[in-house]
Amino acid sequence: MTQHIQNKTVLQNGVNMPWLGLGVFQVADNEELIHAVKSAIAHGYRSIDTAAIYENERGVGQAVAEAMIENKLTRGDLFITSKVWNADLGYEETLAAFEVSLKKLGLAYLDLYLIHWPVNGKYKEAWRAMETLYQQGRIRAIGVSNFQIHHLEDLIADAAVKPMVNQVEMHPYLSQQELRSFCKEQGIQIEAWAPLMQGGLLDQPVLQEIAAKYGKSVAQTILRWDLQHGIVTIPKSTKEQRIIENASLFDFRLSAEDMARIDSLNRDQRVGPDPDNFDF
Ligand code: NDP
Repeated sequence: MTQHIQNKTVLQNGVNMPWLGLGVFQVADNEELIHAVKSAIAHGYRSIDTAAIYENERGVGQAVAEAMIENKLTRGDLFITSKVWNADLGYEETLAAFEVSLKKLGLAYLDLYLIHWPVNGKYKEAWRAMETLYQQGRIRAIGVSNFQIHHLEDLIADAAVKPMVNQVEMHPYLSQQELRSFCKEQGIQIEAWAPLMQGGLLDQPVLQEIAAKYGKSVAQTILRWDLQHGIVTIPKSTKEQRIIENASLFDFRLSAEDMARIDSLNRDQRVGPDPDNFDF
């Protein structure tokens, strides 16, 4: 059971990945970003989730470098994720995109690199590049994002290395039950993006009632629900108080009954694009 902010899940290849990380989607590459990432690390976060398309890898890299010195950490204490964008899906293109990301981040290797979206006809070639980089030791774990079951089946059919992680939209209104069962059978760790539904669930009455019972916030209740389901979660905030709040998840436990009540809120409702019908 997850008892501490730095507890980790063990991926299929034996690599340890923190259950909790900081997301930095829609955070411009400026002082606010650097402050957020440094605050998170100072308050015990060890995992940061960025992507080429967020255009903030440079600032993430700067913040990570400064935080390592200030907190006396080594590179091996941290878990850094980035993602290859749709325009760069192809064997050579993905190899090149990886080098650009790594350079912006100022890192010698990535802990996790993901195919950001399952662009039809393109993700298999990109996956071959990910496998090459993985086999060369440039990435500790490789995975995908926004893959549905049929995308995973298609990819795995030709893959030498199975994806270790699938990062998908997941929150109480989109609980992804079928995909979670499939990934569990396949040994693929699910990671929730928009765990707080981008702020859209904070007024949800059932969540408010459950949160009040434990003396916790709705955000903490949702994130605890993720952890108790064995889901890696990466809430985004640029506010230091919320960064602390979102990591204060280890002093309470939701009962089986409350877990089931949250499960029952599912509406298959997305805030982001549908992976079977996106156009970018
Ligand atoms: P989240 O569900 O994490 O919600 C973020 C929003 O909630 C922000 O507006 C934030 O505001 C607010 N918030 C955070 N904590 C609290 C709190 N305790 N109380 C009240 N409000 C709060 O949405 P994201 O879309 O950012 O998802 C998380 C991460 O997942 C991203 O940052 C990114 O790293 C990843 N992601 C991946 C995608 C993919 O396709 N693979 C797509 C989208 C996201 P504020 O900052 O002002 O605190």
